Amino acid sequence: MHAIRQRSEAAKVRRTFYSISLLIVIVVFIVFTTSHFTSLKRQNDESFKRLEELMVTMTKVYLKDTVSRTLADIDLERKMIRLDLQVAAGDAEAESRADELVKARSIVRIRETRLIEDGYLWASELLTPAGGRDYARRIAHGRYPDSEGTLLSTEASSGLNASQYREELDGLLADGEVYYTYYTPKNGEPLPSRMLVYAALYPDFSWIVATGVYIDDIERTILLERKIAEADLEANAASSITTLVLALLAVLGLVIAVDQATARVIAASYERITATEKALRVEKARVEEAYSMMKELAERDELTGLRNRRSGANRLALENARSSRSSAPFCVAIGDIDHFKAFNDLHGHETGDLVLKHVAGAVERSVRMEDMAARWGGEEFLILLSGDSLPAALEASDRIRKAVSAEAVTVGTERLHISMTIGVAEFAKGEPIDELIARADAAMYKGKAAGRDIVVAAPPPRARS
Ligand code: GH3
Ligand code: MG
Ligand code: MG
Repeated sequence: MHAIRQRSEAAKVRRTFYSISLLIVIVVFIVFTTSHFTSLKRQNDESFKRLEELMVTMTKVYLKDTVSRTLADIDLERKMIRLDLQVAAGDAEAESRADELVKARSIVRIRETRLIEDGYLWASELLTPAGGRDYARRIAHGRYPDSEGTLLSTEASSGLNASQYREELDGLLADGEVYYTYYTPKNGEPLPSRMLVYAALYPDFSWIVATGVYIDDIERTILLERKIAEADLEANAASSITTLVLALLAVLGLVIAVDQATARVIAASYERITATEKALRVEKARVEEAYSMMKELAERDELTGLRNRRSGANRLALENARSSRSSAPFCVAIGDIDHFKAFNDLHGHETGDLVLKHVAGAVERSVRMEDMAARWGGEEFLILLSGDSLPAALEASDRIRKAVSAEAVTVGTERLHISMTIGVAEFAKGEPIDELIARADAAMYKGKAAGRDIVVAAPPPRARS
């Protein structure tokens, strides 16, 4: 029983342990993967932003470099032509003629220059630095040569590009150069695309030289790369999760396998313990039974089955203690079979034993549950009359005496007459048990002297000094 209960408790502990462990693992797993992939995604976002910024910066450098080289070429061209034409320093008219040549050549160069990614240059001549209608004239265009000669306006409104020229002019007047973006049609595409423009002023000619690239391409490239990276990340996440789940399952399987094995070993031990426990219980019951039998044997008189003298004395000592506590009275009677020697002498020792058994039976049947009868000596009996004071005890003793004399024992055809003389003494407070018994014994001898088959009361003990 005990082992089974322990076993089910152990199973409960194990189940709890598993549930909690599994819960912890799942929570840790979710927290870990979520934070891991969130941080990866953030890192991705940041690096793409940096990449985009870097690409824009590189583009700006490239645009500025292109325009600067064009302006440097114009400078160089002017020097070369002045050399070729042997223009004298300070000859304003000759210088102006030389510059016209440079302008014509530069316009061709600007129109014909092709840059990477279909890039091109264009230039305008600034007429009114304050801006406004006809503030400049387009003088060269790499993409739309037909537009050359067109007058430009900072007020021009062409939908998306409403303030493009104003922004350009403001920047140029402030710094001599400017970056800006605007929307313009792109080859083969239905919607205008965003273009990043760099423009610089060539003050000597009042020229604005500009170039630009479509930065939609950059944005589109970044977007594409970003999508690829995100797909990669997702695939990565999926495979990480799969790996983790598989690892988790493997660990779980291992734990369960180990646990099952352990549980089997424990179950076997439990079975052994239960068997041992059962055997021990059976053994204990046997020992207890043997012990109570031995105790019974040790306390009983073999011939009559009454308590023996030692057991009777123990019971008397108990009664003495109880009476001392509660002041309840009790009496002791000593009964001795009359002329017992004669039964032995006339009919043999076995008949004597038979008489003893009959007398014991009569005595035993006559005493109450709370009383006690013991074989005190050869044919002497001690009876404890618990809770009785002398008058009640005398009455009870007489009942015993009558029961003994009513006992029918026959030897052959002869009916034996049996009688018993009884002395009764009431316990006096503080009296030693030996003295109480001696008083009952003395009363019994008085009865013998008075003719036997009677009950005699012992006088109270003499007062002690
Ligand atoms: P009284 O009336 O004075 O008591 O006479 P009595 O013969 O009983 O007195 P006595 O004390 O002289 O005799 C007791 C006898 O009891 C002595 C002994 O042989 C006998 N006796 C004692 N124990 C046993 C026993 O266990 N079995 C048998 N058969 N006889 C026993
Ligand atoms: Mg005797
Ligand atoms: Mg006798």
